[in-house]
This record gives sequence, C-alpha cells and structure tokens, in this order.
Amino acid sequence: MEKFKEKVWLSTPTMHGDELKYMKEAFDTNWMSTSGENIAVIEEAFAKRIGCKYAVALATGTSALHLAMKIAGVKRGEYVFCSDMTFAATVNPVVYEGGIPVFIDSEYDTWNMDPVALEKAFELYPNTKIVVVVHLYGVPCKMDEIKAIAKKHGAFIVEDAAESLGATYKGVETGMLGDVGCISFNGNKIITGSSGGMLLTNSKEVADKVRKWSTQAREAAPWYQHEEIGYNYRMSNVIAGVVRGQIPYLDEHIAQKKVIYERYKEGFKDLPIQMNPFDERVCVPNYWLSCMVIDQEAMCKQVRSDHEALYSKEPGKTCPTEILEVLASYNAEGRPLWKPMHMQPKFAKQPFVTRFGNGRALTNAYMDGGLIGNDGLPMDIGSDIFSRGICLPSDNKMSLEDQNRVIEIVRSCFGK
Ligand SMILES: *Cc1c(COP(=O)(O)O)cnc(C)c1O
Repeated sequence: MEKFKEKVWLSTPTMHGDELKYMKEAFDTNWMSTSGENIAVIEEAFAKRIGCKYAVALATGTSALHLAMKIAGVKRGEYVFCSDMTFAATVNPVVYEGGIPVFIDSEYDTWNMDPVALEKAFELYPNTKIVVVVHLYGVPCKMDEIKAIAKKHGAFIVEDAAESLGATYKGVETGMLGDVGCISFNGNKIITGSSGGMLLTNSKEVADKVRKWSTQAREAAPWYQHEEIGYNYRMSNVIAGVVRGQIPYLDEHIAQKKVIYERYKEGFKDLPIQMNPFDERVCVPNYWLSCMVIDQEAMCKQVRSDHEALYSKEPGKTCPTEILEVLASYNAEGRPLWKPMHMQPKFAKQPFVTRFGNGRALTNAYMDGGLIGNDGLPMDIGSDIFSRGICLPSDNKMSLEDQNRVIEIVRSCFGK
C-alpha cells in the first residue's frame, strides 16, 4: 500500500468561511480587544444552545476550569476528586488553587469516572466538597450516579465538557449537568476559535464574578480599583469571530464524526477490539475522537517506560505501539489514549482511588492492568485501558477512501 500523500490527522480545525468575515468585522469596526459584538453574540448563542442562563467567553478552556475552581471555593490543602483518565488541563487548575487532586479510577462502560470508586473516595476522604468530572473523547460520564453521590456528600460538581461540546446525557447538553460547566475552543476540538473557552452557569452571581475575575478584577469605580486578585482570562473579540463562524457547523461536525466512528466500528467488527463505548439508552456522544481498545488476548507484549515503548511482534496479535508506528509509516496520525493522571510522574504523590479503595497500595504505574481484582477485572482500570487503547485518525475532513485505508492498515496489524 502507498503512503497517504497528504497526512491524515487525528483532529484538525475545519473552517467554513464566515469565521474570516466575523474576524474582519472586528478589524473593520476596530473592536480589536476583549469586548465587542462577536463576544456578545457567541455568549448568547451558547447559553441558548446548551440551555443555561449565562455563558462567559474566556481565553481558554483551562482558564474556564481555573475560574470554576475558584467558584467551587477550593482552599489550600483541600482534596478535590478528579477524573483520572483525562487531559492534564482538567487537573492543573486544582493545583493552581492549592488543592490536592485525588484521582478517581475509570469504569469500562464509558472510560469515565467510576461512581463506585467515587463512593470509596468519600469513605476515605469524607470532608471533600468538590468533584471534577470529564466526558472523555465526547462520551458523557455516568452523571446520574455521580450526581447522586455528590449530593449525598454535599459536594459541588465542576464539569469539564471541553471534549464533549454538543453531546447530551438524558437529553441535557454536557456542560449543564453539574454545578458549573467548562467548554473549550482549542484547535483540536469539535469546533474551534483557534483557542478559547467558556464557563457555563445558571447563576447570575457566578457569571458576574467570572466576568470580573477574567478582566483583572476591576471594581466599579472611576479608577482602577482592586479588592480581589484578578486574571487576564477574557476571550478576544477576534477569536470570538472565529467561534461565531463555527457555531452553525457544530451539528454538521458531530454528524461527520459519527459517520467516522460508525465506519470504524463496521470495519473492525471481526477484530478483537472494542470502540470507545457508551450507552445509547442514556446519552448521545459528540464522537469527537474515535478510539479503540485491543482485547487483552490479542495484545502482543508491550512495555512502556516514561518516554518510550517497546513491543515484540506476534502473529495475529498487536498493540497500540505497533498500530501507531504502522499508521505513522503511512503518514497517518493516531495517538495513545490520554495517560491517566495517577500514572503521571508529576502526580505520583497524589492519592488514587479505585473501586477497591486506595489504589496506591495495590498498584504501580506500569502494571499495565496485570493485577486482577476479586471481580475478575484489572484492579487499576485506567492503566489497563491506557495500555490497550489508541485514538484513531478522526479528522472530519478524512475522505471515505482515506478512512478505508486506515481501516485496512489497522486490520493488517492483526494479520487480517
Ligand atoms: C482541551 C481540554 C481542556 C483544555 O482546554 P484548552 O482550551 O485547551 O485550555 C481541558 N480538559 C480537557 C479534557 C480537554 O480535552
């Protein structure tokens, strides 16, 4: 097979034309700052789309998460329960505010926070008052269960919907399922401003605070009056122009991503793999990234250190490292799944809780799912999924032919 002439990407921005018009409008009217019509329009549009009263446009999803942590009121030295299998931006803002992240293991049904492990975490750290949940790769987490547990313990839920914009859970948009929601317009997300983010809330008080903090916490006074610490986190009106041009295409992008997911599912149906799972009775994902995990029985031997991976070839078997190498040799971009936070050297000292309790007591980072619990499943589910999983090329501009070739390449790794 020949290499792809043009690289096939994991997920890149897809522009449609109006983005430039709205950027130029900002330029022509000289609203080249952090206020202007584009910002006002997108805040209203998202509040309407997501179904919340207020949407505050910010510089990034990470800044939205940071201000969400301040709204949640985390104090120095306090524990915060966080999804373990996620991108570091979910967790870093906890640390910015002096909180201590406690990583909650994943479950196999959605790869998100395991409610059973969350309940265990409240047994271990009963005074915890904040939970940060993520909807990984656009699949909503088990929100009803998580909400019930959080409610029982009086905990506040910050929802990181950076990857799941447009996904719904029981008919409600992600970003509106917790106490405060955060979305992202980073360049690889389902729609993009090149950068940007938003905080979503139904509380005027929260929205006002976030607006104020994001613009250096200026008080209402004739001079620069400061009574709190502020941030320069507001979105630019030029960036908002890009987001504005993308909004009408959100559903189209989701539909394209869904087609990609379903083609993979069909193309791999006789392989010993599973696509990133969800329960269609409770949620509609946005299919942001198509991912798969290889069945344990079909895994060849693979070893990962902090910076490298090795594997030994075995007929009929493969592993993420081999598939990614082979894809790359054809000029296609895949990626390992997000490495769980409890396996990150930076977070080696922070607690990790599985469905059996303290995960630090029973695992080390490189067990690769090897240690089995009394329920017959790996004790550390996050590291198991990580060791066997990959993100497939999921760019919505991929042609049918491109995707068929990706499918062929992946199949060849299994000797098919
Ligand atoms: C992208 C992402 C973020 C951060 O968003 P930025 O806009 O890049 O700051 C946060 N959480 C998750 C899960 C993400 O994927």
